[in-house]
Amino acid sequence: MNELAGKVALVTGAARGIGAGIARLFCEEGAAVLLTDILASGEETAAALREDGYRAEFLKLDVREDADWASAIQTASDHFGGLDILVNNAGVWGTGDIETMDFAELERVYAVNFYGAFRGIRHALPEMRKREGGSIINIASLSSELTQSNTLPYALSKNMITKLTKAAALHCTEKGDAIRINSIHPGPIDTQMMVEVNMPGMVDAIPMKRMGQPKDVAEVALFLASDRSTWVTGAEMFPDGGLKAGVS
Ligand code: NDP
Repeated sequence: MNELAGKVALVTGAARGIGAGIARLFCEEGAAVLLTDILASGEETAAALREDGYRAEFLKLDVREDADWASAIQTASDHFGGLDILVNNAGVWGTGDIETMDFAELERVYAVNFYGAFRGIRHALPEMRKREGGSIINIASLSSELTQSNTLPYALSKNMITKLTKAAALHCTEKGDAIRINSIHPGPIDTQMMVEVNMPGMVDAIPMKRMGQPKDVAEVALFLASDRSTWVTGAEMFPDGGLKAGVS
C-alpha cells in the first residue's frame, strides 16, 4: 500500500482513461500526484481523489506548450516539494496511409505524442536532479511494434517514443543521474481513445480474450515508478494480453 510513500508524481492526460487510472493507483500507493490535462474535467478527477483522502491537485497542461510545462514543474515543487515521477501519458489517435495522409495530420499527432513527451523529459530532468533521482515513464503503444498501412501517424509517433526513451535513459546513466526512463506499450485498453479507434473484433484477436483496463497499465507504471525497479532503465514493457507474443 505504500510503494510510493513520500514521492511526488506528475501525470499528463490524467483527466480520464489510462492517465486517471495511473493517478489513482499512485495516490493509493502514497504518492502526492499532480494531475494535468488539456481537459478542464481533470479538476473533477483530482477532486474525487481528494475526497478519498489522497494528495492530488489538478493543473491545465497542454503538453505542446513549454510555458505550461514550466508552470507544472513549478507547481509540483511549490505544492509538493519537488518531482520524483513523470508519466508522459497524454496522447491522440491519428490515421492515414503513405498516400492519403497529409502532413498536417502527421504534425498534429507528433506534436502531442512525440514532442509532448520530449518536452516533458527536458523539463523534468533538472527538477529530478535536485532530489538526486527519479523515474520517467513514457506511455507508447503496442502500435510502435505493429505495421499497419493505415495508422501511420500514430504508429510512427509511438515508434519514436521507443528510441527517445532509450536515448534519454542512456543519457542519464552517462551523466551519473539516478533517473530511470522506460516505456510502456499497452495493447487495446478500454478508454475513450478505443471508441475512436473503433476496430470491431478486437477482443477475439487478443490471446487473453479481454480488453485491458487502465489498471492493467497502471500496475506496470507502479512497478517502474517504485524502488522495485531501480535497475531497470531504457526498457519496454508490454501490458497487452499476450498480443505482442502472438505477432513477433
Ligand atoms: P484518452 O483519450 O482517454 O485520454 C487521453 C487524454 O489526453 C485526454 O484527456 C486528452 O484530452 C488528453 N490530451 C490530448 N491532447 C493533449 C495535450 N496536448 N496535452 C495534454 N493532454 C492532452 O486516451 P487513453 O487513456 O486511452 O490514452 C492514454 C495514452 O495511452 C495515450 O498516449 C495513448 O496513445 C496510449 N495508449 C492507449 C491505448 C488504448 O487502447 N486506449 C493503447 C496503447 C496506448 P482530449 O480529449 O482533449 O484530447
